[in-house]
Amino acid sequence: MTQLTDAFARRFYYLRLSVTDVCNFRCTYCLPDGYRPQGVTNKQFLTLAEIRRLTAAFAAAGTEKVRLTGGEPSLRRDFTDIIATVAATPGISRVAVTTNGYRLAREVAGWRDAGLTAINVSMDSLDPRQFHAITGQDRFHQVMAGIDAALDAGYATVKVNAVLMRDLNDRSLARFLAWIKTRPIQLRFIELMETGEGGALFRRHHLSGEVIRRELIAQGWQLKPRGRSDGPAQVFGHPDYQGEVGLIMPYEPSFCASCNRLRVSALGNLHLCLFGEAGVPLRDLLADDGQQAALQARIADSLGQKKQTHFLHQGQTGITQNLSFIGG
Ligand code: SAM
Ligand code: SF4
Repeated sequence: MTQLTDAFARRFYYLRLSVTDVCNFRCTYCLPDGYRPQGVTNKQFLTLAEIRRLTAAFAAAGTEKVRLTGGEPSLRRDFTDIIATVAATPGISRVAVTTNGYRLAREVAGWRDAGLTAINVSMDSLDPRQFHAITGQDRFHQVMAGIDAALDAGYATVKVNAVLMRDLNDRSLARFLAWIKTRPIQLRFIELMETGEGGALFRRHHLSGEVIRRELIAQGWQLKPRGRSDGPAQVFGHPDYQGEVGLIMPYEPSFCASCNRLRVSALGNLHLCLFGEAGVPLRDLLADDGQQAALQARIADSLGQKKQTHFLHQGQTGITQNLSFIGG
């Protein structure tokens, strides 16, 4: 097997697969006006059979981890079947989801039975009113119940994503740390990223994760090593805490050097970078099991176009108007 590798000798073990663009939340930094179909109907997103072929092709080229994302992936009625299909693919040992937590309490036991190995839940604030203001949904307690349900269902840890925003949640570190002191939660602060639609919000609220990093180190937190199919977070641990803290800092100069992931949109386009230009269409090669060799070749060839870094520092956000269509 030839491992997917780009021109900068980066190897790709991790696929982030969006299964829908649809979302029922209206996060200020993502879909402030809610989901708008823009000419695409639900039925046009990748089918279960297409997801099976796509995952098989990536697995044949060395992908070991698949993250299901969106939009809100759990809004797909066949979401549990999607998990089972991806988990059954030879070579795929890790199947994760990133979810807003809306369906978590009700569905998590079934997802686990289907083969889901890891869960990331978005939770930007521990204050129910602020949570409502950021997400447009008064569902703080429902999402919290989902996190508890995931731990009860047997997940040893749950990752919780919080987008770090100046003047909103940037002074909440103490409260977040108290929350994870006795809970096996990896709390991850994601730096706000600039998207095509989010320029004004970015200028108002972007804050470097460095502020959090300095505070963690001052309090005795220590950086932990990173595995080859792990995400981009710098993870810190502390002997007095059951939980961990992760920092995702895409504006750090070295961020892209450790890139190990590729993305496929819910319409079947391969995106080499979250902030790249138009994706490479794969859908015409997902119609039949007999196209696997051609599909693998197109994926491998496309990697030659992967750039060394994103161009966010130059204010170029690529075609990414918001992160809901490519899954963050
Ligand atoms: N709906 C799911 C959720 O919210 O978890 C999955 C999709 S969402 C696009 C994936 C992740 O991207 C979430 O953790 C969200 O907070 C993050 N995200 C969205 N827009 C962002 C932005 N402009 N900057 C940083 N993170 C962002
Ligand atoms: Fe929906 Fe997730 Fe975007 Fe929030 S971040 S609007 S939950 S896709």
